[in-house]
Amino acid sequence: MEFLPIFLNINGRPCLVVGGGEVAARKIEILCGAGARVRVVAPALCSGVSQQVDQGSVEHHAGTFSESDLDGCELVIAATDDAAVNRQVAELARNRRIPVNVVDDPELGSFIVPSIIDRSPVVAAVSTGGRSPVLARLVRARLETLIPAAYGRLAELAARWRERVQARFSNSAERKAFWEQVLGGAVAEMVFSGQEELAEKALEKALSGEEAAIARTGAVYLVGAGPGDPDLLTFRALRLMQQADVVVYDRLVSPQVMSLVRRDAELVYVGKERDKHTLPQEQINDLLVKLAKQGKRVVRLKGGDPFVFGRGGEEIETLSAEGVPFQVVPGITAAAGCAAYSGIPLTHRDFSQTLNLVTGHLKDGTTNLNWQALAQPNQTTVFYMGLKGLPIICAELIRHGLPEQTPIALVQKGTTPQQKVFIGTLGTMPGLVEGATIKPPTLIIVGEVVRLHDKLAWFDPEAGVGQPRNPSAEQTAEAREASRAEE
Ligand code: SAH
Repeated sequence: MEFLPIFLNINGRPCLVVGGGEVAARKIEILCGAGARVRVVAPALCSGVSQQVDQGSVEHHAGTFSESDLDGCELVIAATDDAAVNRQVAELARNRRIPVNVVDDPELGSFIVPSIIDRSPVVAAVSTGGRSPVLARLVRARLETLIPAAYGRLAELAARWRERVQARFSNSAERKAFWEQVLGGAVAEMVFSGQEELAEKALEKALSGEEAAIARTGAVYLVGAGPGDPDLLTFRALRLMQQADVVVYDRLVSPQVMSLVRRDAELVYVGKERDKHTLPQEQINDLLVKLAKQGKRVVRLKGGDPFVFGRGGEEIETLSAEGVPFQVVPGITAAAGCAAYSGIPLTHRDFSQTLNLVTGHLKDGTTNLNWQALAQPNQTTVFYMGLKGLPIICAELIRHGLPEQTPIALVQKGTTPQQKVFIGTLGTMPGLVEGATIKPPTLIIVGEVVRLHDKLAWFDPEAGVGQPRNPSAEQTAEAREASRAEE
């Protein structure tokens, strides 16, 4: 190691920044973030630094640097764009044994400022020994995605309970095991999702119970897996998938997404209710309760968003009634994914001010939708589960007043390498679809916005976006079978 990584306490201590430009502004922000009393020496200030001075958090000495500026300082940063001045600051500070950093010239100073991942009080710092600040920033970006935003709150929780845990487990190995369960398990996820009260209760229960009851805190995470492209998962979805003991998934979850599930998680395919291989909804609800009560961390993975035609509400009603901790992680719903990847904005100031999300799964033929409302002008209507009902949908919209020329798009397997977009009108689409082999799932978009597809389409499915990351963990035979089934 060329540099010793340490965390310095500069709270309330006088620190000097030489230079008043944008670079200085960033360093001042970091110093202020750690509670330093900052003085900046510069003939002129950029607007960022002026603001900091105006807010009263920073003192400004207008003028050029002179040695006396170092008096009483405990840390110095040279951030001017004049190499000679920076060198002079560094030399004088080093003579006085004051730690000094020269921005952009790590060799000159005595310390370097790392890239920081701030989840105070948890802080991670990344350095490349001054070789490549960009590389450090890339590492930082990766870590940012791995460390949940509320990690600091988890640390505060641990601090609050430290003494009680210490008192409860005199054996340090037991104590360590306990904390590992808490900080890497269901309790931590409660904190991350803002269920802090629940987390406190779970800890209370664990500490008062028999030996480490915390190990048995199961939970169900109802997670939206998005429309197919794995890059569209949320950070939280990915994290939970990688921690799950069991993943209960259905037909709409793409193999690319499934390949990101933790290797040794148990996979339960529940398909869809009409499929003979798969479980009816009630049994899915019961299964989730049963698994969670066994202390398992269950991810219920659903295509798109769990609360958009996903029956997510029903599943968590049962969990709630049974007192099983749960949370819901939103996903990108098919309408948003297909619209984006086919270049069809769902609303547009000129053409469409209203967006309807509608099920095209027509019970009793046609009667259950408000066609009158759907046939109003200046809106976009997205039909989920509409392939079978397509001829009826087109006919009813025309019958209720939409022109036959109204554009309509059918998006097959949106956001995946198999995405195809069929464009027609209410008059022509049923015929167009009849002759084509169309693979489910498909989404139907009706409205003037569809015309924008010609101009705005950007996604090239052939280009390999969304290929499985890990082909060996591809879809199970069942899921493959099911994805061939009719919609
Ligand atoms: N919860 C899901 C919707 C479930 S209903 C969501 O929020 O997206 C199932 C319907 O979603 C399918 O019949 C189809 O209309 C639509 N769908 C889901 N994924 C799709 C995709 N990748 N491409 C096109 N349509 C999709």
